[in-house]
This record gives sequence, structure tokens and C-alpha cells, in this order.
Amino acid sequence: MPISAAEMFGLDDLVVESKEWVEGAWHLSMRIQQPRLDSCPECGGRLLANGTRTVEHNDVLLHGSRAVLMTVRQRYRCVACGAGPSEPLPDAFDPDRMMTRRLVDAVSCESVRDTAAAVARRYGIDEKTVRQISAERPEPPDYEADVLVLGIDETKLAGNMRGILVDLEGGRLIDIVQSDHKADIVERLSRLRGLSATKFVCMDMRKSFRAIASESVPGAQAVVDRWHVMRLAGEAMDEVRKKCMRKVEGTGRSQHFFRCRRLLCTNPERLAGRRLAALESVLDEFLLVRAAHEHREAFRRLYACKDRTAAIAEHDRWLQETDKDLEKEFKPLANASRRWQAEIFSWYDCWDAARVATNAGTESMNSRIKKINAAGNGYAFGTLRRRALETLRGGINNETPQKAAA
Ligand SMILES: [Zn+2]
Repeated sequence: MPISAAEMFGLDDLVVESKEWVEGAWHLSMRIQQPRLDSCPECGGRLLANGTRTVEHNDVLLHGSRAVLMTVRQRYRCVACGAGPSEPLPDAFDPDRMMTRRLVDAVSCESVRDTAAAVARRYGIDEKTVRQISAERPEPPDYEADVLVLGIDETKLAGNMRGILVDLEGGRLIDIVQSDHKADIVERLSRLRGLSATKFVCMDMRKSFRAIASESVPGAQAVVDRWHVMRLAGEAMDEVRKKCMRKVEGTGRSQHFFRCRRLLCTNPERLAGRRLAALESVLDEFLLVRAAHEHREAFRRLYACKDRTAAIAEHDRWLQETDKDLEKEFKPLANASRRWQAEIFSWYDCWDAARVATNAGTESMNSRIKKINAAGNGYAFGTLRRRALETLRGGINNETPQKAAA
């Protein structure tokens, strides 16, 4: 069935009388087609026309430009009681704001992705109004999907540390918890239905996360994120590099050391040609750096064993084979990997069962949330949380996982 243009644009009961371009916006003079007020709303008495008033409502863009609807509104005076009612406005106008309902809808949707300032500029309205409309958006629903691999992390947002919950298999943000306190995260997890399917909980090496996992998802296996472990290994190697650099301070070789930092941090398989040769020359020159580099690489190979048992045996050997001159720098890694051995090598079970690369999934989510936060230039926590959920529930593009790469 054909529909009228008025219905199509949500402006029933209105007729456009004229269109004028005024200071960068279309001004449309509107007339209410069928006045509805034929008797006094107070007493039912007879009404006399008593002048008109023009009201302005901002509307959605017209041909890509701002539009203002100028509606002539009839005023009356009641012969019986003296009341002075005005012609009611059509439903197209929002009753609380000088805007059309369709503009309120547009602002609400666009405020999810754009900054309040950008939306305000686009439609010629106040930033404050955009924020209010955005705040009226309904709370995003609880995450409903089954969560096979749950990621827990924490990050600083809107002034405080917050707990971050991620569905790592789906690459989706589950929620941002107002604090990183155990009680708050446990409470939030208790309301998640999809956890009955959870087999693995992926985390960094924080004791409270281990406690949260065993309390909230007792049937699941805790896995320490490979990314965090390898970061410790990288830091240990870099400490050795800095130590060697200090020894040759003030000479040209010190600069050389500074520049080779990136080369040392890159996995050797990814280096070729001149860069590989440059790495080799550094390692040839400084034997302690070579030893540190090899020690880190030996740790990385723990992730490429044939199974968990083999990895644990290799890990024991790795601990014993630490060079005396490297002990100090590698101590944080050695302590952590001793204490978290079970969770670190649960990675093997996690990989085989779920085919999910656990590294960097939550970290990548954190950086996305931070981008949203930075774009908003100081959101309140509630607004940030809602925007992040509305944007990041759709899933992120996970890189193709590769088992042997770290
Ligand atoms: Zn009256």
C-alpha cells in the first residue's frame, strides 16, 4: 500500500508553506494542517482566535544541511473562563525539547559512535542536550551468549581501576565493572548466564583474578595469558640490554645499544636480511645480551612443545639453566612462572579444546575501550560503559591465531 510523503517523513498534520536558506540552515515555514482545538480544554467554552506565535524546532538534516521547522501556532482566548490555550503541536515534535522526535532518535543513535560535540555541531543543538539524550538511552541488556573462554583484566578508566570482562572466543566485550575489587567482579559475574558453558578463564598473574575464577566459575580452568608471561620475559631481556648499555655509556656503542632495542624485542623468525644481520652483530659483540636473548627465546619455545607435560619438563630445565649473570634480571619471570606454572601451561589445554589464542584478546579490548574514552574527552563512567558496550558487543576482528608465535 502506498504511503504518503508526510507519513514517510513522520511529519503528518504539517504542510510546508515555504523554504528559505538562512545562515547555513534551511528554515521551513510549517502550517498545522488540521487544527484540533475547537473548544476550551479547561471548561469546554467557545474559543476566539487571539494571534499566533511561531515556534522553532530543530530537525534532521535536509539535503545534508541543518533544518529548522518554523511552525505557526494559533493562540486562543476562552470566552467563558478567560483561559489562553494554544493549538497543540503534532506528534512529530518532542514534547520536552525544541526538536522533532526523529531528530531525538537520530541524536540518540549517533551519540553512540560520535562525540557529543560532533553531533551537536551537525544539528545546531547544545552539547548538553546531546549528552542528556544519550544518557536516556536504555541500559544495554546483559550479555546472553555462552562464554567458552572468559577473559578477566583490569584497566584505568574515568579516574579509577575497572574490571574488564571479555568473551575471548567471540571477541566481544561482556562488561566493564565499576571497580577492580574482587567483590564487585564476582557480583557482576554472578549475574551472567553464559558462564555455565565456560571452560577457561584467561587472566594475568594477579592473585585476586585466580580467586575470582575459582569462586565465580569453579568448573573452569584458569589460564595465564601468554602475552603477560612473554612481556615479563621481554622485560628481563631488556634489563640486561640496559645494564650492558650503561657499561659502555658515552661511547658510540651506547647509541648502538639504544637503537637495537626493537631488534631484540622482535621474534627472530620475523627478521630477515639487513635487520637479521644487525641483530647478529649486536649479539656477537655483547655476549651477555646474546645469553639473555637466548634465554628469552628458550622460554618462548615452552609454548611450542608437543603438550603440557613436555612444556612443564622443559620449564624445569629452563629454570635450572639460568646463567648466574642473568639471574637478577630474570628473577621476576622465574618467580612468576614457578608460582603460576599450572595456569601458564593450561594454555596447552585451552588451545586444544577451544582453538582460541589467549594472547592479547583482552589487551586489544582494553585499548579499544581507551580509544572510546579518549574520543569522549572525559566521560562519566556510566556513559563510557554504555558506549563501550554498544560499540564493542559487535565483536572485534581478532587476528588469525598462530600457535607458535608469541
Ligand atoms: Zn474556558
